[in-house]
Amino acid sequence: MGSQIADLAEMLMTANYVIAFTGAGISTESGIPDFRSRNGGLWTRISPELLSAATLRADPELFYRHFRVMEQYLEDKEPNQGHRALADLSRLGILRGIVTQNIDGLHQKSGSRRVLEVHGNRRLCRCLACKAEYPYQLLGEQLAKGAAVPVSPCCTAVLRPNIVLFGDRMADDFTLARQEAFRSDLAVAVGTSLTVFPAAEIPLSAGRLVIINSEKTEFDHQAAMVVQGPAGPVLVRLVEKIRAKRQAKA
Ligand code: NAD
Repeated sequence: MGSQIADLAEMLMTANYVIAFTGAGISTESGIPDFRSRNGGLWTRISPELLSAATLRADPELFYRHFRVMEQYLEDKEPNQGHRALADLSRLGILRGIVTQNIDGLHQKSGSRRVLEVHGNRRLCRCLACKAEYPYQLLGEQLAKGAAVPVSPCCTAVLRPNIVLFGDRMADDFTLARQEAFRSDLAVAVGTSLTVFPAAEIPLSAGRLVIINSEKTEFDHQAAMVVQGPAGPVLVRLVEKIRAKRQAKA
């Protein structure tokens, strides 16, 4: 893997506009399960149809019973070395930005500034009736107090998280992420199965694709390079290699 990391460092240092595209796999080292890993993905515990916009409207209690399980995995989690290494790559001027499918907010928490969240975030929630927005805390506190369904102060209607559920349209950041992808000559996809569309269109529309993932993906054959391994240690070694190369050139 050593020479692969050196080659990847060279690719990143010579590219003009690099973006990272991250998925649930970047956060498994923070203790948040991903969706599809063979060992313990979230879908082995929650069914995707239940976390959909359709279930939320038809049966909010059922939705929130399952949502609560997902929430427990996301609460009080801290960024890991992979999130921090991506923030380092931005500070080194290598990465122009991060496009993430994650809703855990850990890129921002690790110091990354330009983060586009194509599946929304857990900073806000909104009233299902009038769409008034509130801090996410309002929803979280009601769930923590045992409410079966959190309700809005304005209409006493169901409160919903500002994340993109199955059946929802994409978040506004998706349009910006698409523009970033067309602008970039290299996208580094980290910890994603690249199976969720249209989000996965983002790295696939960049000039070249590099994949860092612990398992094979359907798009490995399209990638200029595939590094199969754990995101955190791979990214840390990548940052070290780039720093060493810069020092050697100085
Ligand atoms: P996914 O579960 O489909 O794929 C994750 C991939 O990451 C898998 O291929 C797995 O092998 C790989 N992986 C797991 N741990 C890894 C590690 N330490 N290093 C490298 N690779 C690792 O997830 P996805 O592609 O992101 O798509 C699923 C959707 O799930 C996304 O839309 C996302 O919004 C949502 N999701 C988000 C979170 C979160 O916010 N942390 C958690 C679960 C799911």
